[in-house]
Amino acid sequence: MSWENFVRRVVPYTPGEQPKESGIIKLNTNENPYPPAPGVQKILDEFRISDMRLYPDPDAGILIQAIAETYQVKPEQVFVGVGSDDVISMAFLTFFNSAKPILFPDVTYSFYDVWADVYHIPYQRVRLTEDFRINPEDYKIPNGGIIFPNPNAPTGVLESLELIEEILKANPDSVVMIDEAYIDFGGISCLPLLEKYENLLVIQTYSKSRSMAGMRIGFAIGNQKLIKYLNDVKFSVNSYTMNRLTLLCGAEALKDPAYFENCTGKIIETREDTKKKLAELGFVFPDSKSNFIFASHPDYDAGMIFEKLKARKIFVRYWNKPRINQYLRITVGTPEEMKQLFTALQEILIEDES
Ligand code: PMP
Repeated sequence: MSWENFVRRVVPYTPGEQPKESGIIKLNTNENPYPPAPGVQKILDEFRISDMRLYPDPDAGILIQAIAETYQVKPEQVFVGVGSDDVISMAFLTFFNSAKPILFPDVTYSFYDVWADVYHIPYQRVRLTEDFRINPEDYKIPNGGIIFPNPNAPTGVLESLELIEEILKANPDSVVMIDEAYIDFGGISCLPLLEKYENLLVIQTYSKSRSMAGMRIGFAIGNQKLIKYLNDVKFSVNSYTMNRLTLLCGAEALKDPAYFENCTGKIIETREDTKKKLAELGFVFPDSKSNFIFASHPDYDAGMIFEKLKARKIFVRYWNKPRINQYLRITVGTPEEMKQLFTALQEILIEDES
């Protein structure tokens, strides 16, 4: 016997690499290539160290109010956390407490199985179709909850509100979480379904469309009752999740819808252009409605391309996992970054042929 018998053992989630060197092109963690709304800089400039002396508002009032106004819901319907990772983790802990397995796709955000493991939640991976689509029929089996991203990650595939509604209708006894981390790049949010389904929790983040991955802000919107349960758990773990500066910056970032539209619009435009160029090089990919493209080449090994891009200081994401080991997930960067990516890809494909 040893204390090690009683350790909560888990294989942790591995985030994308954050290389320390300079001069790299970073297309591996779906960050936004543009800065946050300019008003955020003003908040930073005006923040005084004396403001750090006191604890922050444990209710995150200013941020919750701003999110509620932006998404036209009541403040009681909003929960915030340290990135959507924190929000989803709290939501797993709060709502996935059944002996029945929770369901999520076999190809999806690779943190879901880690949270399930760490909280001892049974789970079942549901196989996506050959073209990485969700078949709603697969989610009409006994379960302890459901989660999937829409658009899905790492595929970028967007499912319809009809499909989400069909799953919600079939599962009134489970909480259904829709992870909308990438919804602002051309998807349609399922927030309007909240009026009809009290078991729906919609999760979004500032990390992608609002360019604030480094600040760590995520939020969930749902029925008041769901949010109350989430807060009960949050206040049983850590009352002060959001620091003072983050609360101020997060509220400010929402005050500039024109900047937001412009920024997401540029990324969508670059994404569509990237699709054309990837297709010209012979890559195939499911149609993406996110800020990344999940591309495969029928004639070249994805692992080889990944390594050769890395040698050229261009980082994309690659998983040596079943079903997806011939795909690269390429974040949409600036047009200039994509130009450099294509120059490198052309060289690599020619090199490998000769
Ligand atoms: N959900 C999905 C599908 C993601 O890809 C990510 C980004 N890794 C997250 C949630 C978490 O993002 P964050 O914690 O930065 O909000």
